[in-house]
Amino acid sequence: MKGMMMHRPLKIADLITFAADTYPDGEIVSVRTEGDIHRTTYRETAGRVARLAHGLRGLGVGDGDRIATLAWNGYRHFELYYAVSGIGAVCHTINPRLSAEQMIYIVNHAQDRLLFADLTFVPALEKLRPHFPADLRIVIMTDRAHMPETTLEGVLCYEDILDGQPAEIDWPDFPEDRAAGLCYTSGTTGNPKGTLYSHRSTVLHALGMCVTIPQALKEGSRILPVVPLFHVNAWGLPYGAPLSGASLIFPGAALDGSSLFELMDREKVFSAWGVPTVWMGLMNEIRQRGRLPEGFGDIVVGGSAASRALIEAFETEGVNVCHAWGMTEMSPLGTQCNLPPAMADLPLDRRVDRKQSQGRRVFGVELKLVDDAGKRLPHDGATPGHLYVRGNTVTSGYYEDPDATAPVFDAEGWFCTGDIATIDPDGFLAVTDRSKDLIKSGGEWISSLDLENIVMSHPGVASCAVIAVPDVKWEERPLLIVQAREDAQPQKEEILGLLQDRVARWQVPDDVVFVEALPMTATGKVSKLMLRQQYAEDSA
Ligand code: ADP
Repeated sequence: MKGMMMHRPLKIADLITFAADTYPDGEIVSVRTEGDIHRTTYRETAGRVARLAHGLRGLGVGDGDRIATLAWNGYRHFELYYAVSGIGAVCHTINPRLSAEQMIYIVNHAQDRLLFADLTFVPALEKLRPHFPADLRIVIMTDRAHMPETTLEGVLCYEDILDGQPAEIDWPDFPEDRAAGLCYTSGTTGNPKGTLYSHRSTVLHALGMCVTIPQALKEGSRILPVVPLFHVNAWGLPYGAPLSGASLIFPGAALDGSSLFELMDREKVFSAWGVPTVWMGLMNEIRQRGRLPEGFGDIVVGGSAASRALIEAFETEGVNVCHAWGMTEMSPLGTQCNLPPAMADLPLDRRVDRKQSQGRRVFGVELKLVDDAGKRLPHDGATPGHLYVRGNTVTSGYYEDPDATAPVFDAEGWFCTGDIATIDPDGFLAVTDRSKDLIKSGGEWISSLDLENIVMSHPGVASCAVIAVPDVKWEERPLLIVQAREDAQPQKEEILGLLQDRVARWQVPDDVVFVEALPMTATGKVSKLMLRQQYAEDSA
């Protein structure tokens, strides 16, 4: 028997309409590339989104057209998310930190029709333009008064597109599995691969994040997404915040500790979301000033493992750390480590222990561990296995890329994350490694993440990475690469001593290399690929 309830398609535009009706005064605050601070509300934004949608239609944008963005976090970028998907087109966010070659590849692969760019990117675009599709038009995300001198032909001005358009719109209905957003993964090997989000997956993801991270996503809360709108939809915040009534404070391009501190203090940010490197910078600033930014009480950290030292530093200051794990292919949220109430009163070090794990799954995402032969492994908290996921917010294949798609799905249709993890009987996931980063020494696995975590607890270490280097006797041995804090000179013996106290002898790296700065990927993680190219291939 079929249920007899109405069926309305889940649509992204409904999130902003809902926010305008329900939380009209919810704020969007943006540090603009023009240099000033801009403030608006969900109600005003819904009106501008409608005007932009009309303007886009006027430019001939239709169903399924890919509309690219190359922009920092700000209200215009947010408007594009809604206007583009609202009329049935696809918002393709481009990571400006990708190499020129990768950017050229993805703009051509996606066959973008329009590209919306912040002022900052005009010089880069002048060089890239000849390599993009001939009929691509570029829109500069500013007003008439700030339009730059440029050699780019036929550029449009963002505010001109909105001018004279009505601030109301009847959003069209279409099936909820219609494509809405496109994001390419950085592609450490081979070409970047596109994840094509749907309206349904995006709305379900927004609902999922609101119920699992409720301390941040609620009416009146003020959230700072350091995670960029140009990558994995800023972890879903542009959707989850309006849905829950939380305000968004967009930081623009300056993400150093001192700029963040000042913005957070002024805007009374409660919850800040981003990768671990950013939070180390903020913590240094907090220590220098001897206080927290006003109103600050929560960070959501993910993208790479949050070290024990990082979690401990914030928790000691009374800031809740929510350690989250996910992937571009998962919209991205997979698990989050807010502790259950029964653990809230644990002593600090026990809480920090727990929070080092990536936490429990979000509703709609299923997890399984398998061995090399694909056989299921127990969730006993001790047996590491290849982590697979399945769910409504997980990709079913890469955009126009069957070769990349085939190898990452198993016979039951689960997606292979490429992570190695354990899951304990209470459902807590602990990621121990990326499968390609694993170190196998004398037949035994060594977890690079475990070693890195211990090394990060040395006060003189700013960042570090452990990689496998070839070894005649043991096949592979771990090599530790360390970036020291500016004001410190940690010694090799001290660091190795720390490890000797904590892990088995044979797991301790044979050597430590000190570098000025560790190479980073386009999404702010240490690039182990580049380190392997430099150190592992040298020693081979
Ligand atoms: P990006 O493109 O942002 O690098 P990816 O989707 O490639 O994003 O990154 C996903 C991978 O990042 C995961 O498979 C995992 O290896 C790593 N990762 C993300 N969050 C965490 C976390 N909290 N702890 C450990 N690893 C993480």
